This record gives sequence, structure tokens and C-alpha cells, in this order.
Amino acid sequence: MSKFLIDRLASLEEYIPGEQPRDKKYIKLNTNESPYPPSESVLKVINSDAASRLNLYPDPACRDLTFAMSNLLGVNSENIVFGNGSDEILSFIFQAFCDKNTPAVFPDISYGFYPVFAALYGVPYEEIPLTDDFKVNYRDYLNKNATIIIANPNAPTGIFMPLAEIEEILRANPESIVAVDEAYIDFGGESAVSLLPEYDNLIVVRTYSKSRSMAGARLGFAITSKEIASDLNKIRFSTNPYNINTLTLLAGKCAIDDDLYYIENCGRIIEDRKFLSEELSKRGFKVLPSCANFIFASSPSMSGKDLYLSLKERGILVRYFDKARLYPFVRITIGTHAECAKLIEAIDDLGKE
Ligand SMILES: *Cc1c(COP(=O)(O)O)cnc(C)c1O
Repeated sequence: MSKFLIDRLASLEEYIPGEQPRDKKYIKLNTNESPYPPSESVLKVINSDAASRLNLYPDPACRDLTFAMSNLLGVNSENIVFGNGSDEILSFIFQAFCDKNTPAVFPDISYGFYPVFAALYGVPYEEIPLTDDFKVNYRDYLNKNATIIIANPNAPTGIFMPLAEIEEILRANPESIVAVDEAYIDFGGESAVSLLPEYDNLIVVRTYSKSRSMAGARLGFAITSKEIASDLNKIRFSTNPYNINTLTLLAGKCAIDDDLYYIENCGRIIEDRKFLSEELSKRGFKVLPSCANFIFASSPSMSGKDLYLSLKERGILVRYFDKARLYPFVRITIGTHAECAKLIEAIDDLGKE
């Protein structure tokens, strides 16, 4: 740290992404990426002469991509804002809708970036504890007078909160923004997009990183009212109007054309999630009910960290969390079926030691 860094940032604890090691080839079940490659036309368009146009700036309005997405979702173009990953959309939300008079509120066990953004922008925040069975209790989020941010399904638990409960929160906070982070919605939950016509305080946040095999392309978006979309665009155009690069714009559009391919992959992941959950349960693990592309599970005999270390030795990466209540657990991304089978094999192997 230099002596020049301002006080607020000197004490900021930055977000620490999951490891992306280069030392050897691991089975990567640690960062909730898709184990499947992008669809054919995504790969093709990136190899096409599109790359020869990188001398030009991308379309700051993201017109083609926005048009395709609005058709897919059945909303208007003016209801969609694209970001450099959904992390950037979340960052816009903290900048646009939180300050000392409007604190942020989110669960104490959720996406680790929320408290980082709050600290980065100097916004006070309240973390509401999950219930004893790791659920978000909607009653804790009524009449808050704060900007509410809820990941649904939640991470790292994978637990989905019924839409009717999200609606209770929206209804009880008409003067506050309610942002629903749907990074994992394509793996079995029900999207809050259907509530948009009725609630002008709702922002649904989505990403291409999990279900659409494009974590490396960095593409996320918000679906919300026309007015909120224009607020988000105000931040976007005041920081980086070219936040979505040319290749990502093209790839994002092609991925929409190939929607069926991604829906099929989600189906595979849902099947393998069931397989992995059952196999782990048979071995005495506690597995939380997941609607995401990962499961959150605790071993009957080892801490999360010890299990992580033993699996890493065997070439498999999972994620553990050094946080009260979470230390017995590991978060395991659902890989291909073969990768899930290898994980079970490794766990049986550990049991023999
Ligand atoms: C992965 C994840 C994100 C971030 O996704 P990007 O689009 O890759 O920035 C946001 N929210 C949650 C809950 C996530 O798990």
C-alpha cells in the first residue's frame, strides 16, 4: 500500500476470487463455471472477421444484443442494461441507489462481493442472519427503508426462495430498491422477471457467466423499469460507455440464438446435481437443497478446509469458507458427469486412509 491511498480504501478488504491455478490441470469445481464450452456459433463469431474490426469502438448502446435479449425475455429494450459481468451491474446498483441515508441490506451469508461494494463506496450496510436451516427469511426484509440485495438462489447455499416471498419483500418496500441477483436462476428456480410489470422497485440481475458458459467474456445485465435502467445507464455512461467489448457483444447475441444448447446443458447439470447430492448423502454428508449449479455440503468427518486440501492433493478443486457457520462446508460446482464421478471416487479414496 502506498502512503497516498485514501483512508476509506486503506481499510477496504477486497473481494478474493476463487483460485484459477496454473501449476497443473485440476478438475475445477471451485468457481461455478460451466463445464461445457460455448455453443458453436459463439466460437465461430469470435473467429470471424469481427476481430478485424477491433480498431473501432463497440456500440455503446449494445443495440443488437439488447434487441435479441428483449425478444428472448419478452421485455422492452429500454428495460435492459448490460454490464461487464453482473459484478459491474451490482457495482452500478451500489453507486446509484445506496448512500449514508439509504443503506444496503443483504443476508450475512451470501455473495461475498456485496459487503465489498458497500465498503468501496462508503455505504453503511446491515447483514441479516440466515435462519438455522440456512434460508433467507423474507419477514426480515419487510419495511426496511434501505436498498435490499438478495441472491436467489442464494450463494453459497444454493437455496431458492419462492417467488411469492420475493413479492412480499417488493410489496413491503415500495419506496426502496429490491435487487434480485439471479446468477443461478437457470438451474431450477423461478425468475422474478415476471414481477416487473407490477413492481417499479425491482431490479433483476443476471449473468452469462454460469449457465451460458461465458465467464471469460464478462457479460451480465439488469432487467428493470425504464426509469431505473436510465439511472444505471447514467453511471455506465459516466464511467465506461464501452463496457461491453466488440467480441463479447457478438458472442452474447449468438448465445441467445443458441439458447436451446444452453438449456440442455442446464438440464445435464441439474441431473448431475441430483446424482452428486445423492451419492454424498449416502456417504453421510449433509447436503443443502440446491437450485444452483453447485451444492453446499458438509462431510461427516472433516472440516471444509481439510476436505478442500485433501481433494486438491487429488487434483480436484472445490471451495471452502473461513467464516463462522460455514467452516464445516465445501461448495462444489457441478462439473460434467465424469467429473462428478471422479469427485465421488476421490472421496471414497479419502475414506480408506
Ligand atoms: C458469480 C456470481 C456473480 C458474478 O457474476 P459475473 O457476471 O461473472 O460478474 C454475481 N452474483 C452471484 C451471486 C454470483 O454467484
